[in-house]
Amino acid sequence: MEKFASAAQLVASRKPEKPVLAARPHVAGRAARFFLDSFPGSIAYAYKANSSPFLIGALYGAGIRSFDVASLPELEDAATIPGAHLHFMHPVKARDAIRRAYHVYGVRTFALDTEDELWKIAEETAGDRGPAPDLELYVRLAVPAMNSRVPLERKFGIAGQKAAKLLVKARQVAHKLGVTFHVGSQTTTPDAYAHALGAVGQLIGKAGVVVDAIDVGGGFPSIYPDSQPAPLSAFMGVIREGIEKLPVREDVQLVCEPGRALVAEAESLIVRVDQRRGNDLYINDGAYGTLFDAAHLGFVYPAQLVSREIPAAETLVPFELWGPTCDSIDHMKGPFLLPASVREGDYIEIGNVGAYGRALAGDFNGYGRYEDAILLDEPLMSMYGTGRIAGVAAAKS
Ligand SMILES: *Cc1c(COP(=O)(O)O)cnc(C)c1O
Repeated sequence: MEKFASAAQLVASRKPEKPVLAARPHVAGRAARFFLDSFPGSIAYAYKANSSPFLIGALYGAGIRSFDVASLPELEDAATIPGAHLHFMHPVKARDAIRRAYHVYGVRTFALDTEDELWKIAEETAGDRGPAPDLELYVRLAVPAMNSRVPLERKFGIAGQKAAKLLVKARQVAHKLGVTFHVGSQTTTPDAYAHALGAVGQLIGKAGVVVDAIDVGGGFPSIYPDSQPAPLSAFMGVIREGIEKLPVREDVQLVCEPGRALVAEAESLIVRVDQRRGNDLYINDGAYGTLFDAAHLGFVYPAQLVSREIPAAETLVPFELWGPTCDSIDHMKGPFLLPASVREGDYIEIGNVGAYGRALAGDFNGYGRYEDAILLDEPLMSMYGTGRIAGVAAAKS
């Protein structure tokens, strides 16, 4: 893999024909070290956010050994990581996936949010000598999204009396019993975790069972031009306080499953402008590629012109972006702030696309093929250090 000091250097030397997915493994490593140092439990990286071997390698190098997988193909992939501990946290799994996960890949940790899934897990993990004696089962609680960009509460999770009943049933099947939730992706304020842990406390009280583990899920934020969250240290503080109030043993096992927060900053997309129409730029990647979330969820990414020097006095103006396919929903409204003189043939670095960028790209219309590279510089915006775009304070305190 070719390494470059910056996107500008890459563009100068390669003049890339295809869009480039440029990884900054050192940035993923730094994010992982922050979580390992400051989260009071273990970290299971949510594999679906980005499974680039360069970023997985960086997370591993920093000390991450647990991975949250959502499907059998992800599991098979992640199982090649030496010493990996895999958690199968999708609440609805195919029977074959459960069976292979348990019997072939040694997975013991599963999530569920219905009684049907509990019996499915019990049946598919049972062996000749009877029920599996070593299941670690997490009941997924539905919690309200608060200040989250991608709420997840409608699809999964159980609440109220039904949740308490399920917890009691799961206790009879599980060797270790846990409760988990997901506050929604890109949650920008820590109160969502306080609220969710409060609901976990009520649930445990209602069910009256011993709970061995709490998994606070993902949802930890990254930073974008229109979404500048509370510092991650504030999230850690709120989670510590919330756990202390729970009716659980002092040595309760604590887990989190960050996806976005570990990898968002660690990848940039480098695109070329193939046409300019007013303040609309037609570029060579888009909604069917790495910019899915910019098109469909309105994410705004930091952008910077990297193909030529711009006079310091040149003003930045808002642009909209259009992707390369023939489809009119291939449109990223932004605003993406770029120098007023941007023109055809220019290259733009679109930063902080590491979470759910590469992962969501398809090849509709023959696009969605990328060159790869490694960059050694700082990301455009950072939760853990100083980003290259001025005026944004590092959110770590
Ligand atoms: C997607 C997902 C995560 C990661 O979420 P982020 O918002 O990227 O941190 C964690 N846990 C589960 C169960 C998920 O589905």
